[in-house]
Amino acid sequence: MPKKIIPLLIVPLLIFVVSSNNARAAGYPVAGHKVIIDAGHGGTDPGTTQCPDLYEKDANLTIANKLKTLLERAGATVYMTRTDDSTLSNEDRYSYANKTNGEVLVSIHLNGSLDHSVNGTKGLYAKPKKDKAFTTVMHNQLASELGVKNLGITNFMSGVILKFVRPATIQESVYLSNTQECEMFKTGNRADQVAQSLFNGLNTWFK
Ligand SMILES: [Zn+2]
Repeated sequence: MPKKIIPLLIVPLLIFVVSSNNARAAGYPVAGHKVIIDAGHGGTDPGTTQCPDLYEKDANLTIANKLKTLLERAGATVYMTRTDDSTLSNEDRYSYANKTNGEVLVSIHLNGSLDHSVNGTKGLYAKPKKDKAFTTVMHNQLASELGVKNLGITNFMSGVILKFVRPATIQESVYLSNTQECEMFKTGNRADQVAQSLFNGLNTWFK
């Protein structure tokens, strides 16, 4: 092979190697998209307290942070309504969300019941036209992956998702009050599983 041909082969090879690093992130449908994550409750509002020593507000934030990591690794831009234990009103949340250019909003919650045997996953939507399809996709992903009862989706006029101008959903992923779930959140990897499932749902939505 003539010597001057070799550089002609090396340059395209280098370009291929460099661009395949970006392609790994670009391989996820969420790459390049903008997602708002709302960790439910916080500060003086603990959410459900039916799992001893683990308040819903803290478990929600743990899931939110894990989801943020997964999304950013996949090349998405993430906006968080809270990153610490602050007290936020619904208005604080949707005002912030509407100021970002986030395309969708996922509000992370865990359900609670005084009956510690109850479990299941439920999706909530507010604006039928904008939220229902998104809520359905996210909920179906959780229902097929988390191994709990499918409690369907329900219309719920919550301020956060109602006042956000683009598609939004509340995912009551599982019942934190459930004895097994409570234990899995405290000593197992349940927060990782929920975050992964929400991540998978977002990829399905943006596909
Ligand atoms: Zn909640």
